[in-house]
Amino acid sequence: MQSILKTAIENSKKITKNGKVATYIPELAKGDRDALGACIFDISGNIILEGDYQTKFTIQSVSKVVILICALIDNGKDVVFSKVGKEPSADPFNSLVKLEMKETHKPSNPFINAGAIVCTSLVEGDNGIEKFSKIHNMMKKLANNNDIEVNYSVYNSEKLTGNTNRAIAYYLKGAGIIEKDVEDVLDAYFKCCSVEVVVEDIARMASVIANNGVAPWSNDRIIPEYINKIVKAIMMTCGLYDRSGEFCIEVGVPAKSGVGGCIMAVVPNRMGIAVVGPALDKYGNSIAGTKVLEELSKELNLSIF
Ligand code: GLU
Repeated sequence: MQSILKTAIENSKKITKNGKVATYIPELAKGDRDALGACIFDISGNIILEGDYQTKFTIQSVSKVVILICALIDNGKDVVFSKVGKEPSADPFNSLVKLEMKETHKPSNPFINAGAIVCTSLVEGDNGIEKFSKIHNMMKKLANNNDIEVNYSVYNSEKLTGNTNRAIAYYLKGAGIIEKDVEDVLDAYFKCCSVEVVVEDIARMASVIANNGVAPWSNDRIIPEYINKIVKAIMMTCGLYDRSGEFCIEVGVPAKSGVGGCIMAVVPNRMGIAVVGPALDKYGNSIAGTKVLEELSKELNLSIF
């Protein structure tokens, strides 16, 4: 498997130049366009690292998976899905358009920004600090790493420039979908996006989901099984922005990408995979990371279909 991953990375590295590093905040624009690294963590606890696996990156939208897990644990599925939908949206991740058009004003799903901000508002905690701390603790547990922390330069940039997210959150508050203090909710959301990790952290998180919610390294249940199923389903249908359908065909496993260049992929009952490559395609997914996963899927027969 090591040599298959090595070859996939070598082949995919050639296309990093066709992508662009996210520039919506200056801190992300500093990302190394040509970096490409990956980690596979299987449910027996074996680990494979390849390429630029030491590259640090902010988790960005991959945090939406952990936010959803926490919202579901704290509220159950009926409450969560009374405030956020379960359907893919063909709109960009930060779009406001559908919120006003729908009678319910519910965001389409938990993986567009509006949906993730609603899920953050549902996580227990009297203020942004408490909400973030719950989500942060869950990230640490899922990664089996107590040292993962917020990158404060990225967080400050997110907070300073997050006007579209602010507009989304205030709209949802006006519509009665967010009940908590908007600035508290946004503060927790911006911190979640700014948590700095390496691919091993994300591959371990994915391995727990692949192992039906149980940590492969300790056999402890971290995610209730029914919640784990929901999370995999939403990853499958909504995880890769507007490219989720094509990803289903070409890779065929539940996954979630983020603009920091990471893609977390869950191969049910087999392994968690994380790739990082900051050069993004026009949809906001790692261009070379997607190719690595396509190659791995073919070579290792990963598709669940
Ligand atoms: N911090 C980004 C935002 O909320 C995350 C976007 C992403 O990774 O899709 O705008």
